[in-house]
This record gives sequence, C-alpha cells and structure tokens, in this order.
Amino acid sequence: MCLSRSKCKICSQEVQQVLSFGKMPIANGFLKADDFHQEYFFELACGFCEHCKTFQLLHQTDPSQMFHEQYAFYTSTSRYMSAHFEAMALNYIQHWLPNKKDPFVIELGSNDGTMLKHFAERGIRHLGIEASQNVAEIARKNGVETRCCFFNDTTAEEIKQNYGKVDLISVANVHFSNMNEVAKGVSLLLKDHGIFVFENPYLGNIIKNVAYDQIYDEHAFIFGLNSVSNIFEREGLEVFHVEAQETHGGSIRYYLCHKGKHSKRSSVMELLHQENDVLNLNRVETYRTFAKNCEQRQQELVALLKKLQAEGKRVVGYAATAKSTTILNYCSIGPKLISCIYDTTPIKQGKYSPGMHIPIKPYTADWYKTADYVVLFAWNHAKEIFEKESEFTKNGGQWILFTPQIT
Ligand SMILES: [Zn+2]
Repeated sequence: MCLSRSKCKICSQEVQQVLSFGKMPIANGFLKADDFHQEYFFELACGFCEHCKTFQLLHQTDPSQMFHEQYAFYTSTSRYMSAHFEAMALNYIQHWLPNKKDPFVIELGSNDGTMLKHFAERGIRHLGIEASQNVAEIARKNGVETRCCFFNDTTAEEIKQNYGKVDLISVANVHFSNMNEVAKGVSLLLKDHGIFVFENPYLGNIIKNVAYDQIYDEHAFIFGLNSVSNIFEREGLEVFHVEAQETHGGSIRYYLCHKGKHSKRSSVMELLHQENDVLNLNRVETYRTFAKNCEQRQQELVALLKKLQAEGKRVVGYAATAKSTTILNYCSIGPKLISCIYDTTPIKQGKYSPGMHIPIKPYTADWYKTADYVVLFAWNHAKEIFEKESEFTKNGGQWILFTPQIT
C-alpha cells in the first residue's frame, strides 16, 4: 500500500494515510450501460489529523461530480427519514424557538424540503439552501422557500444582506468539502443567541461497528465531538449540548452557539470522556486497527458470497444505497456474486451500480421469490425492513448483514 501524505483539509497540518479502499466511483453514480466507458474514479483513502482530530478523505472529488441535475437521493422517499425530520422540526419549534419573536430558520442541504415544510406549514420564516437544482425545485413545489447554491462565507453574506441574521441554522447528514468556509458562514449568519445544529453519522459508531460503508466521496469528513469542537472553535463557536440519534447506524446532533452564549450541558463532557478514554478516537492507532478490521470484514463477506455461489444459491441485494458502493467496490463484488439489487427509487431502476455494474431492478411485491439470500445494504433500517419483508423469511429466505458483524 502506498502511504501518501497530505495537508489536513481543516487545519493544514500534515495528515498521514491510515487506510485505502482503492479505486472508487462516485457513490451515488448509478449509471446506464452506455455510460460505463466514461465512469469517473478516484482513490478512496483516509487519514486522521492528530492536530484537529479530524478523520477525513485524503483525495477529494470535484463537487460537481457528486451534486448535479441527476442527484439521486430524495429525503422524502424514506418514510423513516421523513419521520426523523418531522421530529427534528417539532423539537426546534417546541424547545429551541418558543420565545423568539418572528423566528427565522435556515437549513443547509435542505434537499426536497422534508424538514422545512413543517416550518412552511406553520408560517414560520425559513430558507432552504440546496446545491442540487432538481431537488430544490421539488422543495419549492412543496411550499419551501429554497435557494440553489453551495453554502460558504460568500453565500452566507448574501443571505444576511437579503434576509437578515438567523435564529437557528440546521444541517443534518450533509457533507461539505469546505468546512472552514461553512464555519465562517454560520458564524456570520447566526444571531447573538442563535443556535447552530449539526447532525452527522458518528465516527465512534463507525469505528466501533466497522461500518466502513459510511465512508464514501460525499463524506469528506467523518465527525466526532473533538473534531466538531476544533472546526467551529476557529470561528468563535462552541458545542454546548449533544444528543445521540439512531439515524444512519448512530448519529450525534451537536448544538453550537457563539462562545459563552448558552450554558454548557453535562452531555458534552460525557461524550468527550467516551471519545478520549473509552473509544480512543483521539489516537491514530485506533484508525490503524480499524483498517485491519475493514480488511477482515472484506475477506469474510467475499468468502461467504463465494461459498453461496458454489452451492448454487441465488443471492440478490436489497436497497441500492450510496453506502453499498464502498462495500461492493472494496470487496470487488459484481453481478456474478450478487445478481441484482432491488430498489424502490425510480431514478435508479434500470441502471447499474457504480463501478461493479450490478443491475438495479424495480422493487416488486414478489421480489423475494427470486432469491435464497439477500444482502441488506440499508442495514441501518434493518428493523423496519425485516418487519416489511416477513414473507421472504417465511419462505425460507435469509438475510446477510455485514455490520456490526457478518451474519
Ligand atoms: Zn487538522
């Protein structure tokens, strides 16, 4: 393995590579057979910065490769995520905005307006910032005011000029390559006592569960409390509260404010203790062990699929998630081992999975009759899916899960 060094995307100190998943396509780049010859690849390698404690991709892809007209993910297509965002909106309205006069709320990466529509319905001033034109258009149709742009300090200044400062800025599961500009923009836009809420899949869970499928092009950084604190501290912001969330296999919702404007809650010290003394997320050795664990999972999964193939079992995939791209490419699993992936998203159906070119077939009520085994790529929704697909198990079908263990 070639160990490349590069500069930390946050603090510019030198970062050493801790693992590489090899050549990787864009995770959401589901494509037609006609486009196989022009598929884009990059090296998916990760490093850990010992200075600002940020786990990051070493080679970033051009953002225009990832977010464009064909962007394939709509928040509202997941019933589970819709419910999560509704609860999030109600939490803001009930707990964080009740005494504000004419509050103004902004969401970064507002997608199709699934979260903000709860503000729109109540006549609360809001603005969505969304980089993909096609999803922004759907949000507008849902009555959610949306600006189509990338968020940085320049666009933040424009928003401030046009709309004024903001009471609450929310961002969940959105991944920026320019975190320093985002921090500057947030600091610039947030009112004196305003709140910035930043929610992301938690580094601690990814390391603990060897959930390496969460690592892909859009996730330029994987955050923990140490890194979030360091990134935003540079712009005078501090974390004053954290809450664990069940989404994406375990996420953390960080609450930030201008330094000293809200009293720090005990949740912050508790998570810090967990990171530094229990999970050892502040030490580079932890990530070297993680790399070894990923390799082991890779070998186990491939061995299992090859064994099933030798036994003549029919194996399919369930849910063509962006996450599945890292697994399939890192393990070199193509249509010989998984004949197709069933998915409910119309824009992906009839296309092929990025890199390994497994056909994506439309989800039908009797899909389970075509399979003996099914690999669950949406493992974070396992409970919901097992309930929905009880017919498959009743007919003798078996699920294959790859996190936290291959089972
Ligand atoms: Zn750094």
